[in-house]
Amino acid sequence: MSQLNYKESTVARARRVVIKVGSAVLSDVDGLRIDVIEQLAAQIESAVRAGQEIVIVTSGAVAAGRARLSKLQGATIAARQAAAATGQIDLMSAWARAFEGHGRSIAQILLTHQDLAERRRRQNATQTITELLGAGVIPIVNENDTVAVEEIRLGDNDVLSSLVASLVQAGLLIILSDVDGVLTGDPRKREDARLIPVINDPEAEMRGLVAEKAGPLGVGGMATKLKAARQAARAGIAVIIARGREAGIVTAA
Ligand code: GLU
Repeated sequence: MSQLNYKESTVARARRVVIKVGSAVLSDVDGLRIDVIEQLAAQIESAVRAGQEIVIVTSGAVAAGRARLSKLQGATIAARQAAAATGQIDLMSAWARAFEGHGRSIAQILLTHQDLAERRRRQNATQTITELLGAGVIPIVNENDTVAVEEIRLGDNDVLSSLVASLVQAGLLIILSDVDGVLTGDPRKREDARLIPVINDPEAEMRGLVAEKAGPLGVGGMATKLKAARQAARAGIAVIIARGREAGIVTAA
């Protein structure tokens, strides 16, 4: 099956979809890219109207906070948490405005690793998300950066998105990033790096793949995307890693 056919049938089959949008998609050095958020919201809205249930996992709080306040540039955990607490408001306002244009409500869900490790908390999160989906509201998840301390924090939203996908028993996880997908190597270092169209057996096929580090705006890089993809695959969830700023990437992902 070609990559395109595979994607089309996977996307069409999945009723419940988790879409993770990375900081490198939603922001640049000047802060949030409202045009990108609007464009993604329009695509997600049409998928919802076509009958899909969509949960968004969004990054961008730290980037938005740093763009707003020059005092919050520090690399310490506290500076990052403070930037996230400030930027989370801008991030959610941007999503809310983008969906408002379509008459669609959104909800904010802030989670930590600990929340998902505890049965009762996990159950409550699942119930809330299910209730929201039933009411036609789009749940938008981010890590609760304020209380996430280094030892227990999820580390990045890629892993969070695969946990959320398992939580809501999604059929598909779409990880939107600034790369086209999984490559055989770091394209900046290897001219022969090429895109791997379909990975059917993640355990075997992902072994030994070169994983680059994150860019300046992202946290995860390809390594955590592969980790998230492997986790999701173990739970029977199909995963698509794609370039988030490409037109029509969600509807035709
Ligand atoms: N929670 C962080 C933020 O909103 C992002 C973590 C990540 O990108 O993986 O900025």
